[in-house]
Amino acid sequence: MIWCSDCERDFDVGLLIEDGSCPACGVWLADPPKGGSVPWHFWVVLTGAVGYLGWRAIQGIIWAVS
Ligand SMILES: [Zn+2]
Repeated sequence: MIWCSDCERDFDVGLLIEDGSCPACGVWLADPPKGGSVPWHFWVVLTGAVGYLGWRAIQGIIWAVS
């Protein structure tokens, strides 16, 4: 949680505006959360999902033509 002294309340980091500003008054509060870089395990999951779906698609094509 990040405290905004202007609003006299605290905000969850996820509620802040993209540049890390207060969503209510717009004053800058903190560095924005790392939204630009995707964690490495995201790519592991994505690669696995794409690979699995691709394999299932190939199986479907094989099933359809046989
Ligand atoms: Zn504020």
